[in-house]
Amino acid sequence: MPTSTTDWLLDAKAASTAISPNRQEVYSFDLAGRPISWFSQGKAYKRSLASNVFGRKTIGGKRRRWQLSNAEALIQFERVLSWAKALRETQPENSISGRLEHILAWTPESLLAERERFNAVYQPISILPPDQYQVVVLQATFGCSWNRCTFCNFYQNRPFSTKSPEAFAQHVRGVAELLGPAENLRRSIFLADGNALILANHKLKPLIQIAKKQFPGRDIYGFVDVFSGEKKPVQDWTQLHELGLRRVYIGLETGHDPLLEWMNKPGSQEQALNFIYSLKHAGLQVSIIIMVGAGGDVFAKAHEEDTLKLIAQLPLVKGDIIYLSPFVEHPESLYAQKAAEISMRQLTEAERDAQFLTFREGIHQSKTTARVALYHIQEFIY
Ligand code: SF4
Repeated sequence: MPTSTTDWLLDAKAASTAISPNRQEVYSFDLAGRPISWFSQGKAYKRSLASNVFGRKTIGGKRRRWQLSNAEALIQFERVLSWAKALRETQPENSISGRLEHILAWTPESLLAERERFNAVYQPISILPPDQYQVVVLQATFGCSWNRCTFCNFYQNRPFSTKSPEAFAQHVRGVAELLGPAENLRRSIFLADGNALILANHKLKPLIQIAKKQFPGRDIYGFVDVFSGEKKPVQDWTQLHELGLRRVYIGLETGHDPLLEWMNKPGSQEQALNFIYSLKHAGLQVSIIIMVGAGGDVFAKAHEEDTLKLIAQLPLVKGDIIYLSPFVEHPESLYAQKAAEISMRQLTEAERDAQFLTFREGIHQSKTTARVALYHIQEFIY
């Protein structure tokens, strides 16, 4: 509960509002008045569009994240709103009073109930790249067209399907209503799910046009896999670039072909190289994702060597991103079963950290000007 109501810092930004009663408490809200993130009692919190609340803390130099239960989320919402009430009571003439009314129109319960509105518009969103958490996600497709990589559970039990232009237009309108004025916070469009960009251009272009009409002035981003993306000719990628596609995210995982095959992911080093050259030729930015620790102790050395060899040949430059993503093994996965069959040991956290450094150092030596960044899939939030 509020204990101090003097020295408020109030900040009405173009797309969000921040209030801070003291150095220990900072709360930010979208333009619909819903909390986005806050720092309170030594912990950082974030609310997703589905009103899931995640706490974050640094322990021993490592970031740890956890999801709050509904009861805990309600307590947090109560706390956030109590500070907003305290501001109105102690400073009725404050500089953000119009926005404060939007914030105080919410209750903890109505904030939690945003989950139902979210679920009415979206099917589950499994993953996004870390630089794409603050975007408008639009689901042109559902699931992954392959869905058979042994390590991946993002789209399990979801047959791949594509929305018709009519169904997509309805979805896009629903997303716009859900976001309300908060859409100002989200400066680009992410075309989901796993492989939306593989749709033939005659199907994809009308969907992009619908998205851009509802959310104008935004660039488009999306995932694509090597083995499906390379089937699209470079002219088609050029057309998509002209329509506003800016960057594609490729789950490359490894440059070591036998490991890729062992994980049942189609594609090869050579295909990746050709595909990424095509994308660059089309004027697109590219982000590749490498799984740090994939293939455990059995593949570790070859995974490092071949991946670095591949990265050194890629035409990646400023604006491109190389994500290093610590591998997460799901105990029930086919990957885990196959690993047990060959007595493969997962890398320890220390070994994975060492492999991360090997990749980072090797990429640095390749003199690429692409950005290298960490990608914790468990920190994904939308
Ligand atoms: S890793 Fe990519 S291609 Fe493989 S199943 Fe998952 S989403 Fe599909």
